[in-house]
Amino acid sequence: MKAIVTGGAGFIGSHLVDTLVTAGAKVHVIDNLATGSGEYINPGATFHFLDIRSQEAKDLILRERPDAVFHQAAQVDVQRSIHDPGYDAQVNIIGTVNVLEACRQASVKKIIYASSCAVYGDLNTDRITEDDPTDPISYYGVSKLTPEAYIRIFHRLYGLPYTILRYANVYGPRQTPKGEGGVVAIFLDRIKKGLPLRIHGDGEQTRDFVYVKDVVAANLAAFQHGKQDVIQVGTSTRTSINQVVRLLSKLHGTDLPVVYEQERPGDIKHSCLDNRKAYEKLGWQPKYDIVHGLEESYHLLMQEA
Ligand code: NAD
Repeated sequence: MKAIVTGGAGFIGSHLVDTLVTAGAKVHVIDNLATGSGEYINPGATFHFLDIRSQEAKDLILRERPDAVFHQAAQVDVQRSIHDPGYDAQVNIIGTVNVLEACRQASVKKIIYASSCAVYGDLNTDRITEDDPTDPISYYGVSKLTPEAYIRIFHRLYGLPYTILRYANVYGPRQTPKGEGGVVAIFLDRIKKGLPLRIHGDGEQTRDFVYVKDVVAANLAAFQHGKQDVIQVGTSTRTSINQVVRLLSKLHGTDLPVVYEQERPGDIKHSCLDNRKAYEKLGWQPKYDIVHGLEESYHLLMQEA
């Protein structure tokens, strides 16, 4: 299999590239290293230092004619989207349209698009399903949702096959202490530096934390199975930020100090994604719960110098 991974130098993309290379796929990475790191790019993959908005990125897809394009590249920082909605839209919307144009012309067998639970906004629902209404409350949510509509129309007009994966809050090794769902990475970073943990709001806001290895598995399953679906990639479990602190305190062997600060605009209160459709369509289920995912992340980080 030949695959192109956009954002393959980033947190999720680099884990995906590792797994694809190990499985024997020929992998090309498109990344402009805006937030990614050259160190994370698997040496078995071919790296192209390109912007997804460029003609060169388009030409590369046309030249390589891959079986699959895993489109992970994005501006992922919710707060940055609030401060600079133009840049956010350029990368996430215009960049994705550029990738889609190339996929259509190259007759790519499938595009797998990394969407987000941010498309729902602040739904007052215990467990969100794919049929729930989308009503983003940040520009990032809008810029992740809009490409979904483009993807559907590229399919309707040109038959481009796709699967849209709406990730919950992904965490694990290599996540920068910035960006969407970065709370675990931020906490681990501060524990390592001996700093108190900072929480925006009262800490009772909840998230659905899904481990990066499970997200990689969902991407691979999405290449093999499912047709023109929108599928949530989550654990169907709510975890509060205070619970994360308690779990990390247990791993660290001491009560971690916490400072509570003001809530931030654009932040969602509760978010939990029902994962039954992922099982039905892709045969995918998460293998890690928050306890085991945090344990692995904590120990890997502490092993680093
Ligand atoms: P990340 O920032 O680590 O990865 C994004 C990658 O895209 C980086 O390597 C960055 O350099 C690259 N990139 C950014 N702009 C680019 C451009 N114009 N051209 C080429 N490359 C560019 O973030 P991540 O957490 O790994 O996110 C991967 C995908 O998953 C994104 O599409 C994001 O919206 C989505 N997602 C992430 C989460 C999460 O919790 N991390 C949740 C939902 C959805």
